[in-house]
Amino acid sequence: MAVLRFSFGTMGSGKSTFALQIHHNLRQRGLQGILCSQLDRSDGKVSSALGVSADAVEVGPKLDLFEMALAVASRRGSLDYLVCDEAQFYRPEQIGQLARIVDELGADVFAFGLLTTFQGELFEGTRRLLELADERVEVQVEARCWCGSRATHNARLVDGVQVYDGELFVVDDPNDDRVAYELRCRRHWLSGQVGPVTSQGEAPERSDSEAEPARQVV
Ligand SMILES: [Zn+2]
Repeated sequence: MAVLRFSFGTMGSGKSTFALQIHHNLRQRGLQGILCSQLDRSDGKVSSALGVSADAVEVGPKLDLFEMALAVASRRGSLDYLVCDEAQFYRPEQIGQLARIVDELGADVFAFGLLTTFQGELFEGTRRLLELADERVEVQVEARCWCGSRATHNARLVDGVQVYDGELFVVDDPNDDRVAYELRCRRHWLSGQVGPVTSQGEAPERSDSEAEPARQVV
């Protein structure tokens, strides 16, 4: 039986690396698959923090994933699997199309994505995946908040201050280093505290070397 599996984790939890690894392993076994991504910065490639990348189908909001998979299946004679990176950005109806690919084409779908936005709410695509997936798996790489607790939330910082409002999608400008994303435990995501309190009673200035550049949209 084919399955729709949703693997979720925070930023920096290696989801893209897992996605590329699964695609590589299945292809090595001679299986027919499609790698899908969205809003990736390097045009039709899935890239991981470890620097591996592979050609991918760019999933725009209007793409019918079922029709796309059907066309690939008839062209290649078969379709065994889809690997979908950045699936939190897919439209809810596209997640429904992934379920049809599993049920009607018999192909496995391995979707990867973030659970919550920097505002602390489920992404639309993620909500639909949690509703429809056969399997829900947390990607665990023991990412940590600055306090040492396990990181479960993504914080957006503007000029070193955590923000909870703003556009969900920000255009990545490599010259704009005001926006950064960091991982937090729930307590410090809620409090917005960016570092340990010193003896002077003030949180220290956040050094830029600690901040992840704003390459990912949360
Ligand atoms: Zn913390």
